[in-house]
Amino acid sequence: MIVVKNAQVYTESEIIPEARVVIRDGLIEQIVAKDGLAEDIPPQAQVIDAKHEYVIPGFIDTHIHGAAGADVMDAMPDALQTMAEFLPKEGTTAFLATTITQATEKIEQALRNIANFKSKPGKSEVIGVHLEGPFVEKTKAGAQPVEYIQKPNMGLFNRWQELAGNKIKMITLAPEHDPEGNFIRYLNETGVTVSAGHTDAGFSELKRAVRQGVRQLTHLCNAMNGIHHRDIGAVGAALLLEELHAELIADGIHVSDEMLQLVYHNMGSGRLTLITDAMRAKGLPPGDYELGGQPVKVTEDRAVLADGTLAGSILSMQEAVKKMFKLLDGIGIRDIIQMASVNPAKQAGVYDRKGSITVGKDADLLIVDAELNIKYTICRGIIAHIG
Ligand SMILES: [Zn+2]
Repeated sequence: MIVVKNAQVYTESEIIPEARVVIRDGLIEQIVAKDGLAEDIPPQAQVIDAKHEYVIPGFIDTHIHGAAGADVMDAMPDALQTMAEFLPKEGTTAFLATTITQATEKIEQALRNIANFKSKPGKSEVIGVHLEGPFVEKTKAGAQPVEYIQKPNMGLFNRWQELAGNKIKMITLAPEHDPEGNFIRYLNETGVTVSAGHTDAGFSELKRAVRQGVRQLTHLCNAMNGIHHRDIGAVGAALLLEELHAELIADGIHVSDEMLQLVYHNMGSGRLTLITDAMRAKGLPPGDYELGGQPVKVTEDRAVLADGTLAGSILSMQEAVKKMFKLLDGIGIRDIIQMASVNPAKQAGVYDRKGSITVGKDADLLIVDAELNIKYTICRGIIAHIG
């Protein structure tokens, strides 16, 4: 049992100052306001004094390829374990293991590995798969290796979903390669969040795809058409169409500060999800690395292919939330929680058990100060990191 005392707790509906959060068996058992503190803390409880700082839900990264030297495509239990152990220090208590466009057998090895992986309590939890590619557009490949890009293939997807033990929760695809929308409709009906990305679709194509079941844009602004005054493109679609959510890499490199402001002012925290899109060099020194079988140069602030194309990021969730918090006027902790916990939990289909501080949900909590520095990360009821 853990008791977090003297906490300013952000629950789903309110902020409770001077509250106590009681955690038992990995779950949030009780949230008590000061007035309601009837009994003393049992002597066997582990007590954390939050010192009046904020208690917020853990961050959920729905788009991450790797960290600390490991990559989901390594297809080894150790790789997922390395990520799960590394991520709590940046506040990430759960993530979608994200694949990249590769040869079919490589993708299948990665999916089998995720299906068999058992997340340990006290570490960041693998809550499923984000299948990025291979059903994307060659001219918007970014760092997706072009030679392995395929046309949408429902039979192949079904095989993959079976191999993955039904853990594929999100897919990034180019909707222009499914003009009838049969694949998109099918994915949507089976509960997979369809995210348009690495796409050359114009506005009208995207509008059609949204009617068919596209619900999100992958790393908004990157690997898609920007705003032109005669075709407002995928970026314009995100700003205009209320049905669309969007992922955002808030590092100031993938998307400029001004664009982050423009997007936030138009979409608000309600439709944005902060992601890292991190690759294996995150947490390691600059040098030579690999992504999707391609050599990647990593400097102090970015990862690039030989031709200069951005190859994922080395961003942390903590840096992303801090960036938005500093950059935007009028943004509050509530907006940060919305973009880093609530929206990703909903898009990944786990909001029934994660993404907010609610009795009965997983005890995935952060204690943060007013600048969003992480003091404690608790993963399913166990302290995973002390800052
Ligand atoms: Zn991508």
